[in-house]
Amino acid sequence: MFNLLFPTYCISCGRPGNYLCEICQKKLKNSLPECYICRRISNRYKTHEKCNKSGINYAFIGWQYDIIPKKILSQYKYRYAYKLSEILSTLLLKRLHDTNFITILSKQSIIVPIPIHKSHKNMRGFNQSSLIASQLSKKLDFKFDEDILIRKSDSSHQSQATLEERVKLKDVFELNKEVKNKDIILIDDVISTGTTINRAAQKLKGNSINAIALFRGRPRYQ
Ligand SMILES: [Zn+2]
Ligand SMILES: [Zn+2]
Repeated sequence: MFNLLFPTYCISCGRPGNYLCEICQKKLKNSLPECYICRRISNRYKTHEKCNKSGINYAFIGWQYDIIPKKILSQYKYRYAYKLSEILSTLLLKRLHDTNFITILSKQSIIVPIPIHKSHKNMRGFNQSSLIASQLSKKLDFKFDEDILIRKSDSSHQSQATLEERVKLKDVFELNKEVKNKDIILIDDVISTGTTINRAAQKLKGNSINAIALFRGRPRYQ
């Protein structure tokens, strides 16, 4: 009945039936294992010792950020956010198994989403990384905690911030509770330069940190 009232269409190609149809799912391009800092190939997505300044030991990327992922993230709306997160977290879990990355992750890990990104200025009132992180934690049976890191400032104020204020905002994350000697997995939707996850990781010093992101643009050499 619900489906008759609100038919479901693929947000990428418009085919009826699923929020992301199987054809479009298959068009997602797997990322190659790389060091997320220098972007050279690295076994099992390990950060090279010499590249590792912010303490993220492994940073896994699901897929290349190209046409379909851009559509997915720009179409992420409240009405189907939950369903879409379910599809994406299922696909992500499969990638973690297929690549064997899963074996790197401690079963005691705490999954921590990156608090909402300022470039996602929106009134949607939800954080898509948090939805993905929460569903992934259920599938993996890992702890989930979205209160460890908070964003210091309300993103809606940032567009009016002066340059000086924006410089201060560089330190965007704050540790909301003391966490030490834990296995942390940071979750983000898209990694661009890596600055955001680096800043988040710096707040979590004293823990063993890995990161998982859905998408990232392909490195130049490919
Ligand atoms: Zn489709
Ligand atoms: Zn490197």
